Amino acid sequence: MLEATDLVKRFPVRDSDAVVHALNGVSLTLDAGETLGIVGESGCGKSTLAKVLVRLEDPTSGRVVLDGVDLTALRGRKLREQRRRIQMVFQDPYSSLDPRQSVGGALEEVLAVHRIGATARDRTRRVGELLDLVGLSQAFAQRLPHEMSGGQRQRVGIARALAVAPRVLLLDEPVSALDVSVRAEVMNLLVHLRAELQLAYVFISHDVAMVRQISDRVAVMYFGRVVEDGGWKDVLDHPLHPYTAGLRGAVPVPDPTLAQPLAATVVGEVPNPVSPPSGCPFHPRCPVAEDVCRADLPLLGEIRPGHRAACHVAAAASLPAIL
Ligand code: SF4
Repeated sequence: MLEATDLVKRFPVRDSDAVVHALNGVSLTLDAGETLGIVGESGCGKSTLAKVLVRLEDPTSGRVVLDGVDLTALRGRKLREQRRRIQMVFQDPYSSLDPRQSVGGALEEVLAVHRIGATARDRTRRVGELLDLVGLSQAFAQRLPHEMSGGQRQRVGIARALAVAPRVLLLDEPVSALDVSVRAEVMNLLVHLRAELQLAYVFISHDVAMVRQISDRVAVMYFGRVVEDGGWKDVLDHPLHPYTAGLRGAVPVPDPTLAQPLAATVVGEVPNPVSPPSGCPFHPRCPVAEDVCRADLPLLGEIRPGHRAACHVAAAASLPAIL
């Protein structure tokens, strides 16, 4: 249903010829009704990818195709029409809401912009349905953002994304800013809505536990690339890439029979995106790097059925021995 091909995004550095390498050739697919989890540290390009997928940012090159329509080729009205089908939920619901606008006003505005509902009464009724959908009472239509808790504001953010009846939701760290006790409620709501509305999700998070909870497939991003992808259990319980093993190492593994990663966490810093390292971008931090890693960029390739990784050592089948 959604297919991104070789997405590249460069940002110019002010007063300089240098560029920030934010996305370095990301390709991914999303099937109807599926949830693709995207996990990686802060600065790995996850949020830039989300903005490019919904065309809040234009890619430097590459394509995003939704149900056969090339979103990257659209402009103006045609782009706005297609954007109804793919909506984004942001990490910080407070900053994405107008502090002076009531919840009802914010939702009605979205409906009016997209010409949903023939009359004001239709739109008011639809606002009631949206609030009900996300588990808020009708009284919330009168509330201002500061009169709600973080969890309630995120429910409004989800309602706003659902107002245009999308097929795909891009969820960019949707529960990271919430209290731990509220996270489970919002995650349960997302699971419920996915089934009820037959939505597909791209769920972006730095939190492996959250990605594990909701995803059918997982793509691990590092330095603007997908370095591993596959079914969630394969990727998170039997990682092939040392970076995934390190990320997963920060999460308690409930099954003591599962292999434990060598590295408990990923050490060191993400490289400077203005001057990428040679070869594998992970080699300065990788506990098992070899000479080839400093010279040649590893490509994403299938190493086990349905399970791909971009790693010379994993491809040479020596990684299982060290994990
Ligand atoms: Fe580590 Fe080399 Fe694999 Fe990169 S290619 S992750 S440096 S082993």
